[in-house]
Amino acid sequence: MSANDVVIVGAGLAGAKTAEALRAGGYGGGIVLVGEERHLPYERPALSKEGLIDGPVGEKVQVHPEGWYAEHDVDLITDCPVTDVDVRAHRVSLTGSASLRYESLVLTTGAAPRRLRVEGSDLGGVHHLRTVEDSTALYAALAGAPRTVVIGGGWIGLEVAAAARSRGAEVTVLEQAPVPMERVLGTRMADVLLRAHRDRGVDVRGGVEVRALLPQGHGRVAAVLLGDGTVLAADVVVVGIGAQPRTELAQRSGLEVSNGIVVDAGLRSSAPDVYAAGDTANAWHPTLGRHLRVEHWDNALHQPETVAASILGVDAPYDRLPYFFSDQYDLGLEYTGWVDPTVAHDVVVRGDEASGRFMAFWLRDGRVAAGMGVNEWGQMDAVQDLIRSGSLVDLSLLADPDVPLPDLDASVRT
Ligand code: NAP
Repeated sequence: MSANDVVIVGAGLAGAKTAEALRAGGYGGGIVLVGEERHLPYERPALSKEGLIDGPVGEKVQVHPEGWYAEHDVDLITDCPVTDVDVRAHRVSLTGSASLRYESLVLTTGAAPRRLRVEGSDLGGVHHLRTVEDSTALYAALAGAPRTVVIGGGWIGLEVAAAARSRGAEVTVLEQAPVPMERVLGTRMADVLLRAHRDRGVDVRGGVEVRALLPQGHGRVAAVLLGDGTVLAADVVVVGIGAQPRTELAQRSGLEVSNGIVVDAGLRSSAPDVYAAGDTANAWHPTLGRHLRVEHWDNALHQPETVAASILGVDAPYDRLPYFFSDQYDLGLEYTGWVDPTVAHDVVVRGDEASGRFMAFWLRDGRVAAGMGVNEWGQMDAVQDLIRSGSLVDLSLLADPDVPLPDLDASVRT
């Protein structure tokens, strides 16, 4: 290996896109992309949506077709966990005795699902959702409309609930917060999701403590025991209670780690020549003026452009505003921006909430912090312009669907 090689640890979307961005930027050195899964790098959004309704996602979700890696002279090593990183020696150890020297190291190690720490959580019939295998197994488990209990009313929980319900299952969602998504979306918009699920027959319960998962014979789950003594019969239990950044390697190698690998706006870590991107990176965000770790697909898709630029010596701070989408039943959601959950925001709705097609905006001190489209597409760029302008917005114009969002920029008072 030559001295100017890049080693990318983590062969998911962020890893594969880093290799792509380096080649697109003209990088001519060797690139090694190492992953622990046995698959080619793939994208995850479909795993909790159509993958649970229509069946295994197969090659559709691959980031690049198989031939792409050889064509772009990217050495892809799959099924090979990295065991150690030595940032002083610029060396990465792989399972077995092999090791790789690097000039630049990119950590795109992703996140892992949080585990439920109660008795019975390792029983058969208890699912987590992160990998292709997890999605395929859950798709199969949902056949025949089993009684399904979903623990956690976040994005995984609600997308799984929608998919399971669409396939006829009797579904209960158990959330520890009083109302699912209230912390993220606020009361009014969380209620939109709550109603969407309840109207379709999902039993959504907030303020719930899961005390144990109870077995039947053969080590399979039979029921969920709640803190108040309630026992809910369950054939399938899905745990979606959040994810944790995969920072073990970074921590052991002495990098600064705090809610992920701490990186600057160029995605450089505390060690020279070491970068991080995707779910695991807690990156300084120039517009928001704070560090932010984002576990959404869009972030893993685009941060690699910044990593590649930094490696190539170009200053291109990562300044995109967070963006995500979700599909639940006939609701398609797109959201952009960032709302500090510890600070109260005003919510302005544009359009008719009851029609199932509208937009919502979160404002602080009269300025737009985030916006969401519900079955309303193509507006996110305009929302981002409003956020970036940092200007005071006329609330009646913001609420008026007849006023195009770009026109609001012209009407703002700074
Ligand atoms: P999440 O969105 O963070 O939601 C986890 C939910 O589970 C939270 O509401 C949390 O409540 C609750 N919870 C935590 N411990 C619990 C317990 N013991 N019992 C009941 N509820 C509990 O995480 P996720 O849904 O697991 O998804 C994992 C990651 O993938 C997230 O970052 C998510 O954004 C991402 N993802 C994104 C999409 C998308 O963009 N469409 C889709 C799927 C997944 P508290 O808030 O009170 O802790």
